[in-house]
Amino acid sequence: MEPAQVLQEIAQQVAKCEKCGLHFSRKKAVPGEGPADSMIMCIGEGPGFYENEQGRPFVGAAGKLLDELLHKGGLQRESVFITNVVKCRPPGNRDPLPDELAACGQYLDQQIEILNPLTIITLGRYSMAKYLPNARISDAHGQAVWVKGRLIVPMYHPAAALHQPALRPALERDFSRLQEHIQQAKKNQPEKSIRTEPEEQTPPPEKNEPTQLNLF
Ligand code: URA
Ligand code: SF4
Repeated sequence: MEPAQVLQEIAQQVAKCEKCGLHFSRKKAVPGEGPADSMIMCIGEGPGFYENEQGRPFVGAAGKLLDELLHKGGLQRESVFITNVVKCRPPGNRDPLPDELAACGQYLDQQIEILNPLTIITLGRYSMAKYLPNARISDAHGQAVWVKGRLIVPMYHPAAALHQPALRPALERDFSRLQEHIQQAKKNQPEKSIRTEPEEQTPPPEKNEPTQLNLF
């Protein structure tokens, strides 16, 4: 099956998923969106009010800021795969709970496996914790680190900068350096065979490596 089809299938499962309590209050699940051959993935926290209405990630105020930030980093939103650690809106935009993160993590892991991105931009603490469980975002933001063959770039969450304007210059600076990180990642990327996650159980599909590498 083509990667795009597999991502589509994951999205269909997410749309009807009842694996955690967040399904009770959701209007639309938000599986994520973007090209199946993107080398770059953004992982946020969870859908907010507008995302829950529309079933699409980052379409509210934080999304508008994310678009601007990506642009600063030389990227178009349309070229990046954007998703979240939980696919249904936590009521009142509260933080996701450990059991919700655990239940939904399976979908995120499948998306990462299919996309096989070289660079992952984490937005906020929850997606950062997936790769850097002991890091503090105030120390780690903007600093790219290789984890299991992928370049992880932890960023403050755009919504955090909307609530705390003092964070905005750091967020803008971090995104303006994104292209450097991406170019570094391309130059120093490990062998393709290493770029898989040990905890993944299904073998990576025969995938579109050549397309991916052509992207830049
Ligand atoms: N904030 C997130 O973390 N994700 C979205 O999709 C929207 C806002
Ligand atoms: Fe399923 Fe994730 Fe939605 Fe929970 S948040 S119901 S695990 S899709």
